[in-house]
Parts: sequence; C-alpha cells; structure tokens
Amino acid sequence: MAHELSGEETTVNDAGEIGLPSGQVDEAPDPAPVYRNQRKRYPWWVKSVDEPTTAIDRNKHKRINMERLTVDLVGRFHHAKNRAEVVNRAASVGLPQYIGLDKAAALGKKGWTRQKRWLQENSPGSRHEDQALHNAAQSVQYNLGHDFYELTEKGAYVNVCKRYGLEPWKGSKLEASQKVEKAAIALGASQVGFAQIDPMYLYKGASYPPEMKYVIITYIRWSLEGDKRRDTVLGGAENRVVSSREFFLTSSLRNFIRGLGYRESVIGGPMIPYAVNAGMGELGRANRMVSPLHGMAGRITALVTDLPLAIDKPIDFGLQAFCRRCSKCAQACPAGALSMEKEPSWEPKGAWNTPGKRAYYEDSVSCLSYMATRGTGCSLCLAACPWTKQSKTSLHYIAKALGAKLPFLAPAMVFLDDLFGYGPTSNPDLIEEWWDLDLHEYGLD
Ligand code: SF4
Ligand code: SF4
Repeated sequence: MAHELSGEETTVNDAGEIGLPSGQVDEAPDPAPVYRNQRKRYPWWVKSVDEPTTAIDRNKHKRINMERLTVDLVGRFHHAKNRAEVVNRAASVGLPQYIGLDKAAALGKKGWTRQKRWLQENSPGSRHEDQALHNAAQSVQYNLGHDFYELTEKGAYVNVCKRYGLEPWKGSKLEASQKVEKAAIALGASQVGFAQIDPMYLYKGASYPPEMKYVIITYIRWSLEGDKRRDTVLGGAENRVVSSREFFLTSSLRNFIRGLGYRESVIGGPMIPYAVNAGMGELGRANRMVSPLHGMAGRITALVTDLPLAIDKPIDFGLQAFCRRCSKCAQACPAGALSMEKEPSWEPKGAWNTPGKRAYYEDSVSCLSYMATRGTGCSLCLAACPWTKQSKTSLHYIAKALGAKLPFLAPAMVFLDDLFGYGPTSNPDLIEEWWDLDLHEYGLD
C-alpha cells in the first residue's frame, strides 16, 4: 500500500509566517548521507569541497519572515497554492512594505507608461511583435490564476500508485537521485542537484515532517540571445518563458515524486543556499548563485521530499577570488543596487537580506524599484557576468578554466569580455537581429 500521498503545501498564516500545517523541523541530518560522484558533472577546474565557499556563521543567522523578501519573492510562488493569497496581500509583501503601496503603484504605472511609449515610438526590441511575444510567454504563468499542480492533482492519471495499486518505488539513494535527475531533465531542467534540508534555511514558521529531509534543486538555463537584449520587452519575454518553464517543471516533477509514492512540497525557504550546498554554483557579488557552466543565466527551483536521496557536495571554481577583482555585474546595474566593495561583509543591507553569511549584500529595494519602472524584468547584472556563457567552444572553456585557476586575470577577462561584445546590448540593429536568428526551442542557442 502506498502511504498517504501528500500534496502538502506551504501556507501563509495571519502573522505572515509560512509553513506546513503539521510536523516538526528535523534538526538531525541524514545519519548516513550518501554523496554522488560529481566528477562527470563538471570540468576539471571545478573542485568538490566539504563546505560552501561563502563563510557562514550560524550564530548570526536568523530565519526570516518570507514576506520580508523582495527579489526572492518574485518567482517563488509561481508553483505554490498560496501565490494568489500572497499577491492579494500586496501591501505587506515584497517592495510595497518598504516604500508604501502608493509609491510602488506609481512606479508600476511609470513602467506601463514607458512600455506604451516604446510601442508608439516603435522602439527596437519593444515593438508590437516583441510585446505580443512577451505577453504570450507569460500568459500561462500569470493568467491561469491557479498552479498546474493544483489542477493536475485532480486528474486521474497523476497518482500512479493509487491508479495501479502500486507500492512506493524502492531503490538505493543513488538510484533514487539518478531517477529524479533524469525525470527532471526530461521535464525541462538543465541541471539537477540534491541537498539536505537545513532548518537555518527555512522561513520563520516553516516546518516539515522529520522524514522530509531531502531537497531537489533544479536549474533552468536561459537563452543567452534573450539575455543580451535584457532591457527590452523582447529580452523580458525570455524571463517570462523561463517562468512558464519553471511552472511546468516544478508541478510535473512533484507529480513524478508523487507517482513514485513519496511526499513532496515546494520548499518554504530561500532556494539559493540549497543550490550552493548542492554544488550547483557559488554565491557571487550580485548575491545570487553563479554556475560554472551557465553563469547567472538560470532560474533555481527547490522541492522537499521524503524520498531518500544521495546528495551533492558544494563546489569551488575560484569565484570568490574572481568576484573580488571583477565588478561587472555591479557596474551594469542601472539602479546601483549591487555592492562595489572589494570584500564581502557580514552586515546585511536591509531586512530583505538573510544575515549570517559573509556576502555582497544587495539593495533589493532599489533593484525592484528600477524593475517596476521598466516592466522587463531587468536582470542586466545576470547577463553581464563573464561566467554567463553556456557555449562549450574551446575559447569559452579555456577562458573559464583560466578564470577559475588564475583569478588575478579577472580584470583582463572582463576587458576581453567587453571587447568581444558579450553581455547586454543597446545596439538597435543587434536587438532587432533576434527575429532572424536560427534559434532552438525556447530561444536557446
Ligand atoms: S541590474 Fe537590474 S536586476 Fe540586477 S540588481 Fe540591478 S536593477 Fe536589479
Ligand atoms: S560579474 Fe564579476 S563580480 Fe559579478 S558575479 Fe560575475 S564574476 Fe562576480
């Protein structure tokens, strides 16, 4: 007999705290963790390490209220039942709590007016066809008003154990991770990692039954051609495509776990720490994760499950030393929201940051305020990063290997990056060229 299958969801209580309705956080990690071999996953210049390269002080750490977040809030609820509830409480969530609902609404209006003006002016990258693509890309994600998971839950075909009278799937932790990884890739993930739940990285009030201690992290890479055109409506369409892919991937992967006979839920906590713990990248200057394969051009999602999984170790590809000498993301930020300091700090910039790590904390209020006035999702910082190249050509491979092993070359690499015209562009001809490119599915190259 399959055990009771979950569908358990994160919920928001009146105090704005999120959590599952019952259960305790299990502070005890897996007593016998099994680690995956990462050798095949990365090139030789990426090392597997025991601890993340970002210094952590558990005594300084505070579990934060989910609603204190700004940037992190965006995208977190595309696949959660409570998204509508969170959006309805807009005044106390995300940006409006810091600048007030009126000011936030005024910024949004500015964005709307700007988009209309771009249309009237037939501005490259923001013409009629660009806007049509942008809105089409987000039409599933925003217009449904529910999530896929909730809709599919009602379908007779999803719950395989119930439908065919099967026992929960059995296998080793390594086999389980392999099955989940392959399924996630088939459903649209570019990369998959596994970690253990850490109560430090859960929102205040979030709790899970003790056996739900495994975290599945997926990474969806973006189109670099979309990335280049980031500050246009056309570039923003790329962001919306990824959100819709995230929506499909997460809901379908949850149903896969459920079909195996195990419980799952969207994680009630920040996702980047789990992705870093699972060796998918290191924390960089933009206070986001940088992947050695994809740079910052990707979206992270995380699920928690009781399916016992083999986990991954963090990685080191020299990013900490590289970021000290490179500030391309911060220089690309039109809102001045990213740190230009040489060294990372223990001092958060605001209540939206999770303290307890030595990082380059960002000013999320400036970031989101800027984003609101553009309506394009911005992400210029992500596109600017020299690691944001997915091409496996020997030139990029050599450049990344050099960056990892000889970080003092960072300024030279940034110079060459600029010289070759990588990163975002404002050249109208180049922006327009997108419609003539030979692109693959989802605009990937
Ligand atoms: S570049 Fe854009 S997305 Fe990045 S921090 Fe600045 S405003 Fe935010
Ligand atoms: S742009 Fe430079 S400083 Fe910013 S995250 Fe990338 S490597 Fe680090």
